[in-house]
Amino acid sequence: MQEDQTYIQDIAQHEGEEVTLKGWLFRSTDKGKLQFLMLRDGTGFIQCVVFQKAVSPETFEAARRVTQESSLIVRGKVRKEPRAPGGYEVDASEVQIVQLAQDYPITPKEHGVDFLMDRRHLWLRSQSQWAVMRVRATVIRAIRDWLDSHGFLNLDTPILTPTSCEDTTTLFATDYFGEPAYLTQSGQLYNEAHIMAFGKVYCFGPTFRAEKSKTRRHLMEFWMVEPEMAYADLDDCMKVEEEFVSYIVQTTLRERAYELSLLGRDTTLLQNVTPPFPRISYDDAVKLLNEKGVPITWGEDFGAPHETTIAESFDKPVFVHHYPAQCKAFYMEVEPDRPELSKSVDLLAPEGYGEIIGGGERTASLELLERRIEEHKLKREAYEWYLDLRRYGSVPHAGFGLGLERTVAWICGLSHIRETIPFPRMLTRLYP
Ligand code: ATP
Ligand code: MG
Repeated sequence: MQEDQTYIQDIAQHEGEEVTLKGWLFRSTDKGKLQFLMLRDGTGFIQCVVFQKAVSPETFEAARRVTQESSLIVRGKVRKEPRAPGGYEVDASEVQIVQLAQDYPITPKEHGVDFLMDRRHLWLRSQSQWAVMRVRATVIRAIRDWLDSHGFLNLDTPILTPTSCEDTTTLFATDYFGEPAYLTQSGQLYNEAHIMAFGKVYCFGPTFRAEKSKTRRHLMEFWMVEPEMAYADLDDCMKVEEEFVSYIVQTTLRERAYELSLLGRDTTLLQNVTPPFPRISYDDAVKLLNEKGVPITWGEDFGAPHETTIAESFDKPVFVHHYPAQCKAFYMEVEPDRPELSKSVDLLAPEGYGEIIGGGERTASLELLERRIEEHKLKREAYEWYLDLRRYGSVPHAGFGLGLERTVAWICGLSHIRETIPFPRMLTRLYP
């Protein structure tokens, strides 16, 4: 930034003043003596009006010549314009081209997603992608604000790990000086060490899963926030989740109304996202699905169609609790009088977005954990440190993982998760 630069987001404070805007040409309209330049500078979009009689021949020529995505500097006077999207326009006095872009590949016509994804580094400049990324940044900040102000300490967990924490089939292996190391699938196990030292914690970072099926909800690299609490049970977990998710949604609606309107998002259902959220047990969800003609047998995990059908029965995100233990990770606590059930809970978002949170109570018992490690055929030595957490002051504890990208896709109303992260890593895409 230079001292003489004004950002479009601050334009309202400069009504009637001469300003210097530095950015890129989003699009232009040629009306003969009038040139309309839609300028973007990263903070917003504004129309600059260049009137032939009001500027030098050089400036008018530059305004006519400037092409889509050329970088340019515009000087001019800010004028209130109620019909303009941001409420203001700039009457240009000077237009200076910094670099003239030739044949920008993404034109206002429709392009296929593969074409756009190959040019993701440029596609990010478009209005829709700009809106999504700004929503993403706000969701991240809301996540941190809520946790930081509710007594959760942010502690990072390692990205290179010696063992799996979820499903061993989705591990990304890498060579660690001759030994295998895996990219983290979850900070869960380390979080449990952290809570025994710090009480309530969260980690928030990139998470890697080699998901071998192509869906609109899975990325290979995604961001997950994982709060974990000592002396907490399944019910505490749900209470925290509903407050947390409501705060994230309401903050984003308030602060990103403009971006959501650019995306054409109908926010009616999102306004509804306030505590408490409805709760349904896995047993009842299975009954509901069979009644609604989406058959499932008890013991099976839900797929996308099941989640959508369950969520459609409610007008808010819904908790599904007490999944069969066999559907969940080895460290989940079980219900004492029905040990086939885990004290787990998933939060399903409305409108077909499915699971955005997975979590629950972790087992506090050393014996049960040892047995589960064996049943899951995990290498016992690798988990000795984790077993220590049950040997020395074990307590009931609970926590959950919220997927950032799924949350952003839901809030933005996107049909696919790929647009919620700047450079998505997918089954068939590692470029750019
Ligand atoms: P799914 O059954 O949809 O694969 P999961 O049960 O594997 O989800 P968890 O292990 O509970 O998911 O992870 C917690 C959260 O992380 C999920 O609720 C989801 O929001 C997010 N998540 C999990 N896998 C992915 C992925 N591959 N891409 C994006 N987000 C993901
Ligand atoms: Mg999964």
